[in-house]
Amino acid sequence: MVYDGKEKENGVMNRQQHGLISFLMGCLAIIIGCAAIAQSSILLAILYLCIVAFCGLIILYSYCCKCPCRLTSCAHLIPGKITTVLPRRMIGKYSLVDFIGFAVPMIIVIIFPQYWLVKKVPYLVAFWLLIIIAVADSYSVVCIGCENRYCPLREIELGIEEEKKE
Ligand code: SF4
Repeated sequence: MVYDGKEKENGVMNRQQHGLISFLMGCLAIIIGCAAIAQSSILLAILYLCIVAFCGLIILYSYCCKCPCRLTSCAHLIPGKITTVLPRRMIGKYSLVDFIGFAVPMIIVIIFPQYWLVKKVPYLVAFWLLIIIAVADSYSVVCIGCENRYCPLREIELGIEEEKKE
């Protein structure tokens, strides 16, 4: 999708609204996971929050710190701002290690609370609904027009756009 002038500004704002909402949905899912754990053990719930914070920083360092638009038009708003306090990295293509640095912490954050969530079905449903909606919203709105030209998800979107034009 090509934006210019006012259209570009509106496109960025629209993406950032969706980006912020999907980011907050992800945070809410984590809070629900934490609440499910806390009903069995407060200490484990605190441990989960520490794991989330640590994994979040690894994800931001691996992925967002190399993003060319992290300071200008971060689609999810908050991650781009947090990168300002992290060590600087060269903007450019992601390596295999960067992808692993994104995927492994993400899987840990999602898998960790499942044992406690399955014991509380409403919590489990809410957790997965929030994650699925956040991912769908990101993929269908936020990724489109994102200026992070090194992100593979954006490449897939561009490929779909090109196919539609043909
Ligand atoms: S646009 Fe995406 S990759 Fe870039 S800083 Fe924001 S969340 Fe991270």
